[in-house]
Amino acid sequence: MLTSRKTFLPFALPSISEDAIEEVAGVLRSGWVTSGPKVKQFEMEFGDFVRAPHSIAVNSATAGLHLALEAIGLTEEDAVITTSITFTATTEVICYFHAEPILTDVDPIHNLLTPATLQETIESKCKWDGKVLRSVKTKKQVKAVIPVHLAGYTCNMEEILSIAKKYNLIVIEDAAHAFPAVHKNKMIGTWGDYTVFSFYATKGITTGEGGMITTSHAEAAERMRKMRLHGINRDAFNRPGWYYEVVDAGYKYNMTDIQAALGVVQLKESHAFWERRTEIAKHYNEEFKSIKGLTLPKEDKDGQHSWHLYRVELDPKVAKLGRDSFVEELKDRNIGTSLHFIPIFEHPYYKKTFGFKREEYPNACRMYDRTISLPLFAGMTENDEKDVIDAVKDLLL
Ligand SMILES: *Cc1c(COP(=O)(O)O)cnc(C)c1O
Repeated sequence: MLTSRKTFLPFALPSISEDAIEEVAGVLRSGWVTSGPKVKQFEMEFGDFVRAPHSIAVNSATAGLHLALEAIGLTEEDAVITTSITFTATTEVICYFHAEPILTDVDPIHNLLTPATLQETIESKCKWDGKVLRSVKTKKQVKAVIPVHLAGYTCNMEEILSIAKKYNLIVIEDAAHAFPAVHKNKMIGTWGDYTVFSFYATKGITTGEGGMITTSHAEAAERMRKMRLHGINRDAFNRPGWYYEVVDAGYKYNMTDIQAALGVVQLKESHAFWERRTEIAKHYNEEFKSIKGLTLPKEDKDGQHSWHLYRVELDPKVAKLGRDSFVEELKDRNIGTSLHFIPIFEHPYYKKTFGFKREEYPNACRMYDRTISLPLFAGMTENDEKDVIDAVKDLLL
């Protein structure tokens, strides 16, 4: 057996440069720490980067998804289709409105919501009367679909948009894993009606906590800007003097200048981060390709993978170890892993509230039994990388 690493290698860590620390310190010294000029700058630069007409910075992707659903006027009479393999943030925001989440199964290879799984869900769980799509179970009107670019592999947006158009669905992309990612020569951020990015600690770039919504809908963008800060009418707020107007019961979802300062520098460094993650993923793919029973993630055939995660699948009949023992053995060797994700229908709240049945999601169940994410982040050293490669080969070859 190999000697294990001296220190624990987590599956993800943020990369914070001295430049980023300086930029944040500058904000701290400036006297203006909450939403101000840095947030504006970050929104402008992020929007330019993905080429989106409007970008709205918020304090998390969860807040961003909530604001997008609020902007489309979601109510308790409505339903939203999303994937069963995602983080609870994607589905909890639907529940905020007492609307119904309808889950799709995923494809067996990338574990995504695909045009086929979306169409299958529409046919088996919904009813189309020529004008309105309704949930068979609750008769609620299906208003939107939320595809998730799991791990950073892009969903087939052209076909998803065309299915959405056919059934009058608004498309909100959960792009928490998809920065920077390209789909058919266009960056993720301009495909659907709304795209929501996460700057959580482990994501492609981080602001500690944070998120960004991009959209081409000017009116909705204005609504989201108001609702992220108490529903305060911005025109009145920007006026000198004490007068402002509250036009709705809004939220406290604004990003701070401290966060945005970090974001501005992370954005500049994002390409280098992405290059390093891509390099590590390529090395893993090369080193692991001869391991029997281990299915490796693929390059994005339709664009550019963000390589947010490196997820592998172990076939319990062929591989030397089952997934759970593999995880335990890696932990003993000081190598961290994570699982993306426990299917939504497995969680007690969702099971109890919506009565989801796991038999309806065979590919999601299979994925849950077999996959695991190995360490992948820009700050990994060559030694870190080698430790993962050696441990995996030692255990499975
Ligand atoms: C991280 C994550 C979110 C939530 O992001 P926050 O910024 O932490 O709110 C949403 N969806 C997916 C798929 C995620 O991985």
